[in-house]
Amino acid sequence: MIHQQPAGRTSNSNPPTGSQICIVGGGFGGLYTALYLQKYRHLRNSQITLIEPKGRFLFTPMMYELITDELKEWEIAPTYSSLLAGTNVSWLQTRAEAVDLQRQVVTVTGGDSIAYDYLVLATGADSRPVDIPGVDQHTLTFRSLDDALSLKARLSQLLQVQAMGPQASAAPVYVTVIGGGPSGVELAGKVSDYLGARGQITLVDRGATILKPFEKGLRRLAQQALARRDIRVLTETSVAAVSADTVTIEAGGEQQVLLSHLTLWAVGTQPNPWLGEQAVDHNEQGQRLTRRSLQLIDHDNVFVLGDSADVRGSKRNAAPNTAQAAYQAASRVAANLAAMTRGRSPKPFNYLHLGDMVTLGVGDAGLWSFGITLGGRIAALCRRGVYIFRMPTRRHRAKVARRALGELGRAVFLPWRKRRDPGYES
Ligand SMILES: Cc1cc2nc3c(=O)[nH]c(=O)nc-3n(C[C@H](O)[C@H](O)[C@H](O)COP(=O)(O)OP(=O)(O)OC[C@H]3O[C@@H](n4cnc5c(N)ncnc54)[C@H](O)[C@@H]3O)c2cc1C
Repeated sequence: MIHQQPAGRTSNSNPPTGSQICIVGGGFGGLYTALYLQKYRHLRNSQITLIEPKGRFLFTPMMYELITDELKEWEIAPTYSSLLAGTNVSWLQTRAEAVDLQRQVVTVTGGDSIAYDYLVLATGADSRPVDIPGVDQHTLTFRSLDDALSLKARLSQLLQVQAMGPQASAAPVYVTVIGGGPSGVELAGKVSDYLGARGQITLVDRGATILKPFEKGLRRLAQQALARRDIRVLTETSVAAVSADTVTIEAGGEQQVLLSHLTLWAVGTQPNPWLGEQAVDHNEQGQRLTRRSLQLIDHDNVFVLGDSADVRGSKRNAAPNTAQAAYQAASRVAANLAAMTRGRSPKPFNYLHLGDMVTLGVGDAGLWSFGITLGGRIAALCRRGVYIFRMPTRRHRAKVARRALGELGRAVFLPWRKRRDPGYES
């Protein structure tokens, strides 16, 4: 069993006397469970361990803003050590390699093991591998902080290289975004705004429409935003192959080769592999089946949530694979853990769909919530406000909100000041 403090471990000052709670995965499901557990006084002396190999949490819904410099890395990717400071959560910066449900032990990289009374598994999902020639070698994904930084570096490089070409400044940069779900649409808008008039963006989706699961008004707003940016949208079109500078597409039985200096892959995910030594029930995608209380079927002391879980029970409550569902589930897991450690019964998780929001370029967004659809700058402001409110910890929210308010103040004050005094320099 583990006793020493590995690098990257935040320590808690109270010796543990209560239950040992082990959380695997520090994303929306795992980190938010650890933070929600702080609300329960009787758990203050529990040993809560968070196993997460990355150094920084990633607020994925706002990753797109890194491309256009609307947000800074520290805002959407705060370090775990800063987020967990002052809590009773010990962060182990390592990977969980195996879980033994019978012995109640998690083994981490290097062979150390952590015993638990309660286990929370929130290991998330990753891109689903596909069998299309060239996709692995010639496309960029957009799921991690490294992906966002690589994309930005590649876009800047493309602008420089193309500017040195035979037609110099007029040379267009061709980008193909594959996948017309929220991620593909949001990427297309931001990449277009980054490249400006030089960008020639094509969005490809094999379905009949983009943003299929979204409400009609929101889809229309997105289509208009893409049209304003001259982004070509090809629906009912599939991808047959990708090379370093082309994408071969297929529609109506005909193939066509598109020039593409950069191809972005925004299609399909699959849950990260099950870590258990014993097999458990799962669905076709590999998501682990849980009861409505989010407890693993046949294992009362194990909770699974987020993208790697499939909550069984009434269809009405089925939770989608979103951050919104994961942090709602985290609140329920924390409440159920608090109840069970007091000998009470866990309660079912009821997912409440609060709405959908998409960024549609710089200073533009679309949102739908409880029958109301909003677009443009006002939607962009609301989206930013809602996401700041959803960020982890009060301290981090306050830091991000201060910068947003400062920016808003400058956006309002500067034009007013310049109108009064045309010689005014900011
Ligand atoms: C670019 C992008 C934009 C998105 N935008 C939105 C949005 O606007 N709205 C929305 O609701 N959702 C959005 N999502 C989806 C949302 O991010 C996920 O649904 C959510 O993160 C799922 O939470 P999770 O806890 O299951 O997984 P994650 O948040 O992915 O966390 C999983 C964590 O587990 C860790 N992990 C994995 N394996 C191990 C292991 N063996 N040991 C230890 N740790 C491990 C990983 O490092 C990771 O930190 C977006 C996703 C992406 C990629």
